[in-house]
Amino acid sequence: MSAPITQDVLTIPRKLPEGGRVNIVGLTREQLHDALIAAGTPERQAKMRVGQIWQWVYHWGVRDFAAMTNLAKDYRALLADRFEISLPEVVTRQVSADGTRKYLLRIAGGHEVEAVYIPEEGRGTLCVSSQVGCTLTCSFCHTGTQKLVRNLTPGEIVGQLMIARDDLDEWPTQGTPKNETRLISNMVLMGMGEPLYNFEGVRDAMKVVMDGEGLSLSRRRITLSTSGVVPEIARTAEEIGCLLAVSFHATTDEVRDRLVPINKRWNIQTLLDALREYPRLSNSERITFEYVMLDGVNDSDEDARRLVRLIRGIPAKINLIPFNEWPGAPYQRSSWERIESFADIVHKAGYASPIRTPRGEDIMAACGQLKSATERGRKSRAQIAAEAAG
Ligand code: SAH
Ligand code: SF4
Repeated sequence: MSAPITQDVLTIPRKLPEGGRVNIVGLTREQLHDALIAAGTPERQAKMRVGQIWQWVYHWGVRDFAAMTNLAKDYRALLADRFEISLPEVVTRQVSADGTRKYLLRIAGGHEVEAVYIPEEGRGTLCVSSQVGCTLTCSFCHTGTQKLVRNLTPGEIVGQLMIARDDLDEWPTQGTPKNETRLISNMVLMGMGEPLYNFEGVRDAMKVVMDGEGLSLSRRRITLSTSGVVPEIARTAEEIGCLLAVSFHATTDEVRDRLVPINKRWNIQTLLDALREYPRLSNSERITFEYVMLDGVNDSDEDARRLVRLIRGIPAKINLIPFNEWPGAPYQRSSWERIESFADIVHKAGYASPIRTPRGEDIMAACGQLKSATERGRKSRAQIAAEAAG
């Protein structure tokens, strides 16, 4: 028996209790505009103030209203009284032998989430979380074993990028050329959680991240990975417009039901129909199909051939992910020969089929290994095994 698929998650209110300060981080321009007016900013000035504050916070990385020197002193005092610029707290920062950095962050309510920075030749990718834990229970994923779930607020999602920028010392200083290569050049929503079960939170966070006068990451440098929440896929194209990756992982419904249980709700055919529309709706090139290589489960040559038949007609890249083990996991990684043989078939069918090099394994930072150590509520091994067995 598999656990039912639920979306029973909690979102904490954006505004702090009576008398508390409103956090600016994560508000969209419209929300900031309204909040400034509510705090007494004259309506005709509000748009200009939004622009000024926005630049200080998201372009220069300033955290102190007193440093916003193009605002009048008493206005700065008013802002400091009513607002704050606050980020999740960094609990630990681990640096892997390969340069990967993993941040354990504490958010409101004492929950913890992780973000991972992966440096590569000529670019760097920040992998961010969208939820604490995940309501879904993919049987090969460590995050899926974590019981407790809540949606991250837009501020907590944007905050992950700002914290990584702090750590890498990547805020511009006066005179930095605008287009120099950035350490954090790309962002992937591939950390903890199912981003499309926190659609509004993720969308508003991406609006802030993509804004050209602030953090300024282009939508083509952001990839959202979903396990297949079909009704939100078209909305992602229309309201976010970033690149899409899908956790495909199997070529028959029977196997996918076991690996990615959301498949019981929206099966392979339904998912593929939604994916076919994505490139046109989002005006982007191709979809990334993620495929975790599990020994003896989904890694045969026949699977590879079935995969290319299934996705025919969809502009795609197939990202093969060697399974990353975690304590108690009910699977093993496929052998390198198996992965290469699979990749070869996909490649000969005309698709790019990179094998994702596991990064940061020594600090448990690789795909699917994230899980807060302090969230003790954990599904039992028996439950994971039962889910894996279908
Ligand atoms: N919830 C979203 C995004 C987070 S997971 C999703 O499922 O798409 C990012 C990727 O890592 C997904 O493709 C996921 O299936 C994969 N993954 C999860 N656990 C893994 C593991 N132990 N080894 C390798 N990949 C894993
Ligand atoms: Fe959730 Fe993604 Fe892990 Fe599945 S693979 S349990 S959807 S985080």
